[in-house]
Amino acid sequence: MITCAAYVVFGLMSGDVVFAIAMCWLAVGSALFHGYPTMLTDALDRSGMYAAMAYLALPHWSAAAPAAVVGFLLPGNVLVPAIGALFAGFIWRAWSALPVFALAYVIWNIGKRRWDDDGDPVTVPWYARYCHGAWHVLTAYGMWLMRVG
Ligand SMILES: [Zn+2]
Repeated sequence: MITCAAYVVFGLMSGDVVFAIAMCWLAVGSALFHGYPTMLTDALDRSGMYAAMAYLALPHWSAAAPAAVVGFLLPGNVLVPAIGALFAGFIWRAWSALPVFALAYVIWNIGKRRWDDDGDPVTVPWYARYCHGAWHVLTAYGMWLMRVG
């Protein structure tokens, strides 16, 4: 998906080499996963998210680590507690990114794949790919705000 490039763009715009590398890793993992969804590319995509978020949380690890542990023990989507842990880690820097992530999450939910009660995939609406593309761009922007904000 071309919108994965947003991670590269915002990573490079930060002027932080380590953050840019983590964001490029996320972009490659995400693009590979969308092109060839396998367990390996899924792991690459996830590890890119964790790398970028862990780097953002690193200076605030003493606050972020307990929140991350609690978040990952809770059921549900892994991204929500991960983002929650980031905000717990450095809430004072994250205010500008909060509405961006909130909007991204709402749009991601509108476009996400669904299954019926029998576990069969429900037909994906035409706008689903645009929702997911917007998710890529908005989360890349939000992460950039967290790095430079
Ligand atoms: Zn994606």
